[in-house]
Amino acid sequence: MKIIDEFTDLPVSRQRKKQLRYQRDNRCMICGQPREAEATNKVLCVRHTTAFNQQQRARAGFQPWQPGKAGRPRHDQQKAVA
Ligand SMILES: [Zn+2]
Repeated sequence: MKIIDEFTDLPVSRQRKKQLRYQRDNRCMICGQPREAEATNKVLCVRHTTAFNQQQRARAGFQPWQPGKAGRPRHDQQKAVA
């Protein structure tokens, strides 16, 4: 059964339409799980945001992030300023 919505007639692939529907429904673009409220990425869940960041670090040749070491902590691990 064909899904009729605002993405139906877009000249893009079925996969891209699925990604856009996930984004519209506030779900992860990769796995489709509902995105958590603490997720800082607008299209990915926390798990896939972390994986993406680690891939980017590996590509750039940087050291992995470690708690207590130099580097900016993840947004959801920072303490809220009162
Ligand atoms: Zn995900």
